[in-house]
Amino acid sequence: MFASISGPRRPSPPRAARHARRLAVLATAAVALAATGLAVAATPSSAAACNGYVGLTFDDGPTGSTGALLSVLRANNVRATMFNVGQNVQGNPSAARAQVDAGMWVANHSWNHAHMTSMSQSQMQSDLSQTNSAIQSATGVRPQLFRPPYGETNSTLQSVASSLGLRQVIWDVDSQDWNGASVSQIVSNASRLQAGQVILMHDGIQNTRDAIPQIMANLNSRGLCPGMISPSTGRAVAPDGTPPPTTAPPTGSPTTPPPGGGCTATATFPNVWGDRYNTSVTVQGASTWTVVVAVTAPQRISTTWNGTPSWDSTGYVMTMRSNGSGNTFGFTTMTNGNSSARPQIRSCTAG
Ligand SMILES: [Zn+2]
Repeated sequence: MFASISGPRRPSPPRAARHARRLAVLATAAVALAATGLAVAATPSSAAACNGYVGLTFDDGPTGSTGALLSVLRANNVRATMFNVGQNVQGNPSAARAQVDAGMWVANHSWNHAHMTSMSQSQMQSDLSQTNSAIQSATGVRPQLFRPPYGETNSTLQSVASSLGLRQVIWDVDSQDWNGASVSQIVSNASRLQAGQVILMHDGIQNTRDAIPQIMANLNSRGLCPGMISPSTGRAVAPDGTPPPTTAPPTGSPTTPPPGGGCTATATFPNVWGDRYNTSVTVQGASTWTVVVAVTAPQRISTTWNGTPSWDSTGYVMTMRSNGSGNTFGFTTMTNGNSSARPQIRSCTAG
C-alpha cells in the first residue's frame, strides 16, 4: 500500500533471533511429520486438498529484494499477484520478468504511487496506461488487475481503470507489514483469510518474507490454497487450468433430458462465501446451446462468464447462450439473506 521507499520502519529483529525462530518452526514441522509417519511432501501446497483459494498479493515492487521474495515463494510453492509500480518496472524490467517466470501474476499499482483521487481523469488515464505499457513490455503480459495506491479510489478512477481493461482490487485482510508488523503479527493477520479473500502484503520487507512459511502452514491446515484473482469478480479463484474445487456435492441432475436435439446441463457450486456463491454449469450433448436457469428471490445473479445472458422481466430467470467459450459457463449469485436456495436448470436446448 505505502511506497516501500518512504516512512519509518521498525528495525527488524536480530538475524540470530529470526534464525532461531525459523529453526524452531522447522523442528516442529519435522516432529509433526515424523509423528504421523508421512513422507515429506516435495510440493506441500499443491499436494494438499484445496477447499478454497485465497489471493496473496505483494505491492510496490519490483524492488531490490524481489529475487529474495520470489525464492521464498517458490520454495513454498506459492503463486501470488504482484501489484507493480510502473516506474519500478521500467527501472528493473528483468525483475518483473522474473516474477512472471516464477509463476506470479503481474498487475498494475500505478506509475509512481501517487494519491490518484486528486488527479484529473486524463492524468489517471495516462498514469494507468503508462504502467500497463511498462509491465507489458517487460513481461509480455497485459495486466488485468489494478490496485490504487493506499487503497484510495473514486468512481472516476474506477471507470478509467475499467476502460483500460483493469479490474480494481483492494483487499479483505491487511497484513500490516507496511506498518512494522512482526512476523508473528503478519502470520496472525493472514490467519483471518477466508476462501475467496485477498490479503495485502509488500515486496521489499524482510518480515513479510520470513512470515510466508508459517502463513502457508496455516492455510494448508485449513485446506486453503493460493490462487489467482479473477479479473471478472476480483475474488480469489483456482489458477487458470486447474478445475475449481467442489465444496458442495453436485446436485445430482437438475437436467432436462432432450426431447430430441437437446442437451444436458449439470450444475455444481464450486465456491460458497458468506454473501454469495458461484455456480458452474456444464453442458453435454451440444456445442452450441441455450440453457435456462432460475434463481429464487431474493437471490440475484450478479456476474456471469463464458456465455451470453439475457433475462426475463422478473430478473430471476436467465437464458444463457453459448458464445464460443466452451461448454461450461458460470455465474455468481448474491444470496441477499437466502443462503440455502440454489439455482434450478429449467431447460437445455441445442443450437
Ligand atoms: Zn502500495
